[in-house]
Amino acid sequence: MGMLNLDLTRLYFGDYVGDTMDLTADQHTVFQKLLLQLWLQRPVVLKTRWLRKQSRLSRGDWHFIHPLLLEPLGTALAGVHRWNEAIRAYDGRRLPPFEWQILRTLVLARDDYTCVYCGSTEDLHADHRISITRGGSNALDNVVTACAPCNLSKGPKTIGDWMKSRGSTKSVKNARGPIRS
Ligand SMILES: [Zn+2]
Repeated sequence: MGMLNLDLTRLYFGDYVGDTMDLTADQHTVFQKLLLQLWLQRPVVLKTRWLRKQSRLSRGDWHFIHPLLLEPLGTALAGVHRWNEAIRAYDGRRLPPFEWQILRTLVLARDDYTCVYCGSTEDLHADHRISITRGGSNALDNVVTACAPCNLSKGPKTIGDWMKSRGSTKSVKNARGPIRS
């Protein structure tokens, strides 16, 4: 049943434990699913219909749960927008450790804790597809989950150059990064 993903609690800038202590384990799972979608899709405001769709709950279940979730989701969304505003100051530069940790948490969860290049689920890093030194950004669509061997082997190379240097394109799965609807 529902499990609290401690990694994802990091994406909530309020008092996670205090603000969600009335939730059951299953409700935590729904809350964390919505928290992740707030980060990935960054809606301007919370819309009930959108939230219900993201939750994948039936109307009845959603009706029951949503009064409990709205306030912490509002707090979470404010944090998402504040953070995204704050990291603009680092365009063209590496993020400081705290901000990088947030981005890494987000990217790994989005990619289901799987290397987008080879499918490994161990020793995962977040990798700039286009490196900062080549003008790549810290935006979500430029950062993907990569295992340590892929990350180290790719280094600052472009994905194209990296594949050529490995002499094979077959071993690089999904090299364009995850496509999310
Ligand atoms: Zn890999």
